[in-house]
Parts: sequence; C-alpha cells; structure tokens
Amino acid sequence: MNNSVIVLVEHLRGNIVDITYEMLGVGKKIAQHLNVPLLALVIGKDVSKLTPNLGLADSVLLLDDEKLEITPPQLTAKLVENVYKQKQASILLLACTNITAGVGPILARRLDLPFINFCKTFRFENGDLFLTSQLYGGKILSEVKLIDNKGIVGIYPGSFPLDAGKSDRTAPVEELEVPDFVPEPSFKKYIEPELGDIDITKENILVSVGRGIQNKDNIEIAEELAEAIGGAVSASRPVVDQGWLPLTRQVGKSGMIVKPKLYLALGISGAPEHQEGMKNSETILAINTDPKAPIFNIAHYGVVGDLFEIVPILTEKLKQRKG
Ligand SMILES: Cc1cc2nc3c(=O)[nH]c(=O)nc-3n(C[C@H](O)[C@H](O)[C@H](O)COP(=O)(O)OP(=O)(O)OC[C@H]3O[C@@H](n4cnc5c(N)ncnc54)[C@H](O)[C@@H]3O)c2cc1C
Repeated sequence: MNNSVIVLVEHLRGNIVDITYEMLGVGKKIAQHLNVPLLALVIGKDVSKLTPNLGLADSVLLLDDEKLEITPPQLTAKLVENVYKQKQASILLLACTNITAGVGPILARRLDLPFINFCKTFRFENGDLFLTSQLYGGKILSEVKLIDNKGIVGIYPGSFPLDAGKSDRTAPVEELEVPDFVPEPSFKKYIEPELGDIDITKENILVSVGRGIQNKDNIEIAEELAEAIGGAVSASRPVVDQGWLPLTRQVGKSGMIVKPKLYLALGISGAPEHQEGMKNSETILAINTDPKAPIFNIAHYGVVGDLFEIVPILTEKLKQRKG
C-alpha cells in the first residue's frame, strides 16, 4: 500500500533542525506526485511545541513522552517502524546527520526496504521515483530507481532549499500512543561539544584559508580581509591539522558544511573532501597560483595568482570603499 509519505522530524534541544525543512519540501513534492498525504513524525520529550512549525505537512504525528528525551537508533527505528506500518507509508524521509545516523539501516532490515542514503536530488519518470545519492565523498553519483516507489531515503543536508519546507498554515496534530518499551541502550547524558567563538555555518561571508597560507602568522592577512568585508575566517583541513585554527573553523567532509552568500577560497586546492563542505555556497571566489587547481571547476570567479599579493590589495580597496 502506498498511503503516505513520512518525514522523520529532526530536532535538537527544543529546536527543529534546518534539515527538517529540506525534507518537508522534498516530501511534499513526492507526496503530491504519489497523490498521498505528507505526514511529519515528531518523536521526543516536550515536542508538542514544535508542531506549529510543521505546517507544510498534511498532518503531524506526535510521539511525546518523558522517556523519549533522546532516543538511541534502535528505539527510534522501533517507533518509526510501528508508525510506518500503521500509516501504510511508501516513502520515509530521514536526515543524513549524526542525530539520525544508524536509524536507516536498522529500519531497512526490519521493514525489508531499500535504504538510499546521502540523497541529493530526485526526479519522477513515468511515475517512478529516481533518487541520486552521493558516494565516496562526492566522487561518484549513483541514481537509483525505487521499486513500487517504496523505500527509506536519507536526505543529505544542504541539498534542497529550506524555504520549500516552510508554511504559515497549522497542520492538524495526531497524538500517537507511546508503546511500552525498555530503552536499550538508554540515554544517560548529553555532552555538549566544545563551542567555537563563531559558528561558521551561520556566516554570510567566509574567507577560507588553505595550505597555501603557509603558516599560522599569515592567517592575519585573511583576518584583515574578513574584517574589511564583514565575514569570518574558516579553513581547509591541513590548516586545522597544523593547529593554526580550531576544528570549529574547518570546512569539509570531516568539518562543517557551509552555504554562505560568498565563499573566498585562498590557497585551497579544492579536494573533493573540501568541496563537500562548501560547493553549495551561493558565490565562490578562488585565488590560487595553480590554474589547474580543482577549486576553479566550481568557482564562479577565479584569480590565478599569489594570495599574498592579491589579498592585501583587496583588503585595502574594501577599506577605502568603506571609508
Ligand atoms: C576522510 C578524509 C576527510 C577529509 N576531510 C576534509 C575536510 O573536512 N576538509 C578539508 O579541507 N579537507 C579534508 N580532507 C583532506 C583533503 O583530501 C585535502 O587534503 C585538503 O582539503 C587539502 O587542503 P588544501 O587545499 O588547503 O591544501 P593543498 O591541497 O595542499 O592545496 C594548497 C593550494 O594552495 C595553492 N597555493 C600555494 N601557494 C599559494 C599562494 N601563494 N597563493 C595562492 N595559492 C597558493 C596551491 O596551488 C594549492 O592548490 C579529508 C581527507 C580525507 C581522506
């Protein structure tokens, strides 16, 4: 039966996480194609207050209980499995993030469904849903056709627009009965990660430095440019590995995924692992001495040249303009 599309709402410390809106936007389009309702499933403790933000869904399903403060993947999977069966769903969308990691494979086994993770695009052809997922950090894109339009889909953050998942309307809420369970393993304590001085995922302009910056002292050049242009400094992995900037500033596969309005890449070659974290930036400007550097394949503007010559001039011009 294909009677609904379900989005597993992702939230953290009382707030809906952005990926939820990406999933709702995708879910709405799929549900419209399949001519079925879109359901937003919220699992947690004191989560009823989140429901007014989920207006794009045709209805919101609520599993709200003290014991569900943080649910390990086994438990989340068990709860979602019940709802998937109860609502005779066809597609389940969940987030490809650390919060939901582990749920997809367990569910796929329990429901005997395919799990397509790292999904970045989708399309319909002759009524069939095709999904493209990113493998090996973006080196391979694989397109998969879902048999009978049934499956579990992990949405890769930053791949779809947030606004498409937002709505001013209020969706009806259905409170579901929380089944008896013994959490195994159980949630003991939430340990906050070390906070950086700034959150690079929230910045509109990033001046990002790579190994081409040569040493810690030279980062000052990027900081001056960032100050003049009103942005923050981020970095590629080698800069962080050397201890020149903290891990909270790292962009890429093992760092942060950023999407600023402007991303300036200074002395960054543009390895796939770096691109993975910044290629969806609105505008990318790269400065690199090597005309064959892969960063130029994705940059909107490129300057082949020495950053130590160009950046101080750029900073000076920006300061003059401000003055
Ligand atoms: C599992 C895994 C995860 C990874 N995660 C990440 C990640 O999260 N983020 C990340 O960034 N990397 C990551 N990497 C590393 C990645 O593969 C690259 O090694 C790294 O991105 C390269 O950083 P870079 O561009 O700063 O250095 P390089 O590749 O050494 O490039 C330096 C660039 O600077 C240019 N240059 C040199 N001097 C100047 C100058 N004076 N002016 C202008 N240009 C100059 C050079 O032409 C060159 O293109 C990961 C790797 C693995 C295997």
